[in-house]
Amino acid sequence: MKIDGRTRLCGLIGNPVEHTMSPAIHNTLADAMGENLVYVPFHVPSGYVGDAVRGIYALNLLGCNVTVPYKSEVIPFLKGLDPLAERIGAVNTLVRTDGGFIGHNTDMPGLYRAMCEDGVEIEGKKVVILGAGGVARAVAMLLKLKGAGEIIILNRTLEKAERIADEVNGAGGNRNVSALELSEYRKLLGGEKFLAIQATSIGMYPKVDEAVITDPDFYGNMYTGYDLVFNPAETKFMSLARENGARAFNGLKMLLYQGIIAYELWTGKEVDSALAKKAFKAMKAEMGIQEESAKNIVLMGFMGSGKTTLGRELACRMKTTVEDTDRLIEKREGMKISEIFSRYGEDYFRRAETKLLSELAESGEGPAVYSLGGGTPVNPENRKLLKRLGTVVWLDIRPETVYERLKGDTTRPLLQCADPLGRIRELIEERKSAYSECADLIVNVDGRDCGAIADEIEQKLIRRAEN
Ligand code: NAP
Repeated sequence: MKIDGRTRLCGLIGNPVEHTMSPAIHNTLADAMGENLVYVPFHVPSGYVGDAVRGIYALNLLGCNVTVPYKSEVIPFLKGLDPLAERIGAVNTLVRTDGGFIGHNTDMPGLYRAMCEDGVEIEGKKVVILGAGGVARAVAMLLKLKGAGEIIILNRTLEKAERIADEVNGAGGNRNVSALELSEYRKLLGGEKFLAIQATSIGMYPKVDEAVITDPDFYGNMYTGYDLVFNPAETKFMSLARENGARAFNGLKMLLYQGIIAYELWTGKEVDSALAKKAFKAMKAEMGIQEESAKNIVLMGFMGSGKTTLGRELACRMKTTVEDTDRLIEKREGMKISEIFSRYGEDYFRRAETKLLSELAESGEGPAVYSLGGGTPVNPENRKLLKRLGTVVWLDIRPETVYERLKGDTTRPLLQCADPLGRIRELIEERKSAYSECADLIVNVDGRDCGAIADEIEQKLIRRAEN
């Protein structure tokens, strides 16, 4: 990008600002749209927000974003507020006008645009908001404005949820906002299914294994889970939602669209969907998030679930290679798995398996299709490595189908016992929670041919890529 005497400057004020993704969004858009504009983050120390606003106005900045902790603190230093920002009581975008900046809030329109794109409806719906912080308050206001049928704010500190419910109910219309203490969430179960918006700070990097509620019943009662956290891209809340049959989204698109709306306010130019996709890609690259299409596919499931045949079919469709991790270990060790077991024991084999997965996850080559040994995900360390290796597809199969497929096979030691079906049932039951913990996609394989299963996986992968 060429910087000259006509270059306009936009920026971000906050504390901290070092990990912001906004430069990736705005500088990509400016570049793609041929706008002579540069976006730079400014770390503003505590107590200096007024000076910062005066300074950026004096330096002729076209506009500025505002982030934590200044979204409310900045207001007294502005010329005025746009009506939505006034209603929400928080500003994240300053737009230059004669005599000062006007404060806007693009977070909520950003979330709304993201939800529309993801096909998440609000009007007439029952919505549960987890959290009662600054963002939850704005989300409650947005839901009210967009005609949600019922809004329940669930928070650890009940008084904060009650305060928001009172404020939003006071904004007009029917009093359909209520508050509930987090520990009382079971009161929501059994009735109409709901859309849940996760607006607490739980689950953010580095505490990626946490969710405010872990009870599967809660997730089974929602049809969509929308997490406003965007790092990691797949939060614990999202995987719990998916495991229990709900759709799940993260906060990345909200982040993208709050930026795009700010950019449109500053430049007066509309950002079309092709440009939005470009900015989204740049943002994900900045965060080190792999595009779905660049990811490996990892096939996981009990013996007899068809991993090898399906692996070949998918690899053929993707024009890539298929690798069986058991065969790779045999190649490295120069002997069959059965021989590794008898010579060195199972622990040795499992260590070799973890080492292989770790190397594959690090290699960054691909995309390829990997077919796993049936017991690989039982080891918790392997489960983490599998998530890094690629999109994990669980081929879910009933014990009876496994038995039918393998009953004549004398090469499987596991089945050489008095009650093979009972043993299969036992093992599938034992492994179920490990499989479900690391599955990105679950596909049932009972009574289905390889082509139909591959079609379903392809469709599901396309939908994931669009999210
Ligand atoms: P905030 O004001 O600090 O509120 C944090 C909320 O999390 C409060 O409701 C708090 O409950 C709850 N919480 C914290 N620790 C908890 C715990 N251990 N157990 C249960 N609840 C807990 O934060 P905010 O500004 O509203 O932001 C919330 C989240 O929104 C952020 O973490 C961020 O990831 C996300 N966000 C996303 C975007 C985007 O563009 N996608 C933009 C802004 C924010 P108490 O009230 O009981 O303390």
